Amino acid sequence: MDQTSTMDKLISLCKRRGFIFPSAEKYGGLQGFWDFGPLGVELKNNIKKAWWKRFVQQRDDVVGLDSAIITNSAVWQKSGHIEGFSDKLIECKNCNRRFKESDFAAADGAATLACPYCNSKNFSPARDFNTMLRTYIGPVEESSAVAYLRPETAQNIFVDFDTVRQALRLKLPFGIAQIGKAFRNEITPGNFIFRSREFEMMELEYFIHPKDDGTWFKKWVEESYQWFLDLGLKKENLRKYEQKEEELAHYAKETIDIEYKFGFEKGWAELMGIANRTDFDLKAHGFMYKDDVAKSEFVPFVIEPSAGVDRAALAFLLDAYDEVKGGRTTTTESNKEVETVLRLHKDLAPYKAAVLPLSKKEQLSGPAKELYHELKKHFMVDYDDVASIGRRYRRQDEIGTPYCITVDFDSLEDKKVTVRDRDTMKQERVAIAEITAYLGERFR
Ligand code: ATP
Repeated sequence: MDQTSTMDKLISLCKRRGFIFPSAEKYGGLQGFWDFGPLGVELKNNIKKAWWKRFVQQRDDVVGLDSAIITNSAVWQKSGHIEGFSDKLIECKNCNRRFKESDFAAADGAATLACPYCNSKNFSPARDFNTMLRTYIGPVEESSAVAYLRPETAQNIFVDFDTVRQALRLKLPFGIAQIGKAFRNEITPGNFIFRSREFEMMELEYFIHPKDDGTWFKKWVEESYQWFLDLGLKKENLRKYEQKEEELAHYAKETIDIEYKFGFEKGWAELMGIANRTDFDLKAHGFMYKDDVAKSEFVPFVIEPSAGVDRAALAFLLDAYDEVKGGRTTTTESNKEVETVLRLHKDLAPYKAAVLPLSKKEQLSGPAKELYHELKKHFMVDYDDVASIGRRYRRQDEIGTPYCITVDFDSLEDKKVTVRDRDTMKQERVAIAEITAYLGERFR
C-alpha cells in the first residue's frame, strides 16, 4: 500500500477512534504538540512496557531510572548542549517563514533552495538556533534562575552514574535505562507525530570497558533491530543505516540508525539510533571507574541505543494498517466495503479482547457483562452492544483488537462463547469458565 495515503488515512483513524489528535485543538492547536487519547495511551504504554520488560526487567545487567525533566543548567553546560545543541535555521526573506536548512539539503541539495510557500529563492544566511526549551525556576526571571527542559534523557543518566552504580554495586559492563519525556524546540515539526516538540524517549546507556566497544556496539544494534521485528514490524520496512563520517555527532565514533520506511521525505527515516558515544559524556561530567580486579582506573565508554516512543508508535501503526476489500465479515452490508484492519502485535493492541453480546436483551447482556467484568480484572477489554455484530467486528478490527468474544443464545445453554481471531478469522467455541485462561495463554 502507498505509504503516503496510508499516512493520511491513519491520521484520520487516529483522531476518529481516539488514538492521537492535536493538542489544544479547540484553540487552534499548538504546532508540534499532540495528545494521546484513550486508545493511544494504551498503545504507548504497551510499547514502553515491552521495551522495559525486554531491556531492563529480563536482563541482569541493566537497571532503571526516572530522573527529573527540568534540569540544572550546569548539566547542559558540561554536556555541550548549551553551546552546540542547535540546528541551522534559515529564513525566507520574502514571506519570513523559517526552516531547518538540512530539510532542504536532504530533499534536493542546498543549491536549488526555494521556499515551499512562496517559491522565493531569497534566504537569510543560516544561523545556529538552539533547540533546547528554557524556563525559569522560582519567582524571579533572572539568568541565575534559568533551567532547561531536557532534550534527551541520556544526560541525567550520565550525571547519576556514580550514585546508581554505588547504590547497586554495579560492575562493568552494565546499563542504565530510562523512559521519559524530552523537549526540543524543533524548527519544523511535522509528519504527524514523527517530529514533535514534546515527545518521549526510551534510552539506554550501556557502560563498558573501552576495549570492548566494537563488540557491544554490534550487539546493541542487533538487539534493538530484533526488538522491532519481534513486535511485528515487517522486515522489508526496516533497515540499518550506518552514518557517514560527516554525519556523525562530534562525540560519536560510530552510529547506526534503524530506519523505517515511513514514506515521507526520502521514504526511509530514522526510527532510532545506536551510537558509540565513547568516553565523551562521563569525561565531560568528570566520572572515573575503578576496576578492583585489574587495579586500573579509567573512563568507561558508553553505547547508547536511543529510540523515540512516539516514532515507534507511528511505525507500528503504519505497519499494522491494512485494508481488506469486502467479504471479511459475513454480513452482507459489509461485503462491498473496504474494511480496515489494524494488525498490531497483540502485546501492543490497546484492547486485548472485546465482549459482544449478540443482542442487547437482558438475557444476553447479563452474562456478557459478567464475563466482561471478570476479564477486566486481568486484561484491557472492551464491551460493545451497539449496532449489528458485523459492524461491531469491524469497529474492533479497525482498532486492532485481537479477539472478539460473542455471547449468543446458545451460550445460555452450552455455557460457551465464540472467540474470533482478528487475523486468521477463525472462530472457536470456548467454555466461559475457560476464557480467562484462554486469553492468559495468549498474553503471557
Ligand atoms: P532527527 O535526525 O530525526 O532529528 P536526531 O538524530 O536528532 O533525530 P536523536 O537525538 O538521535 O534524534 O534522538 C533519538 C530518537 O529520538 C530518534 O531516533 C527519534 O526516534 C526520537 N526523536 C528525536 N527527535 C524527535 C522529535 N522531534 N519528535 C519525535 N521523536 C524524536
